[in-house]
Amino acid sequence: MTLAQRIEQVQCTVARAAMRSGREPADITIIGVCKTVDRDQVEAAYALGLRHFGENRVQDAARKFASPLPGDAVLHMIGQLQTNKVRVAAPLFGVFQSVDRPSLADALEREGGRLERPLPVLIQVNVAGEAQKAGCRVDDAPALLARILASPHLALRGLMTIAPLVADPEQVRPVFKGLRDLRDELRQLHPDAALDVLSMGMSDDYAVAVEEGATHVRVGRAIFQD
Ligand SMILES: *Cc1c(COP(=O)(O)O)cnc(C)c1O
Repeated sequence: MTLAQRIEQVQCTVARAAMRSGREPADITIIGVCKTVDRDQVEAAYALGLRHFGENRVQDAARKFASPLPGDAVLHMIGQLQTNKVRVAAPLFGVFQSVDRPSLADALEREGGRLERPLPVLIQVNVAGEAQKAGCRVDDAPALLARILASPHLALRGLMTIAPLVADPEQVRPVFKGLRDLRDELRQLHPDAALDVLSMGMSDDYAVAVEEGATHVRVGRAIFQD
């Protein structure tokens, strides 16, 4: 399949899952995770209409996007972010999806202050409670949320999770539902918080994620098979 056909297939799968869950396909954003491919593939995907891209390493993103994409493209930081990389990362990324601890929130807040603009962030939650995996514990999410809301240079947008690797995507449905339930609970605690984004679902399970309410899916291999 060509890149165009793979993008079309992902769009089609997202649209069908959206319809099944009574939502509009346009309400779901496809993020092309381009961590395994070079700039030319990103530009080809952009030319085919993709506008959101995901990278998980600051160093790779800094190299690949030394000259920025057109202004309507958005680069999402989806990997673990060390506080000492925040200075380099801040101008590169439009959204920081992997905020999972107070020290990282504080580092981004300082950098947002320096750049004099709020940085959009998601709280990454380890819903499945897997050991050694990134993301804050579900129980720690309310405190992290409160800290972000108290940070004038952070713009909270929602939540993100990475589901465990499983053979059958149905097995991770409870993880996606868990993130949505947590979002609903956090909304009760902070009715004014902007928690519209649910970033969940990857190449193997994004249809299930959309059925469970994903607003953003992070699709790597299904688009950028190399
Ligand atoms: C690599 C990656 C993805 C995309 O994974 P695929 O299985 O290739 O779709 C999504 N989210 C995160 C955080 C990743 O690191």
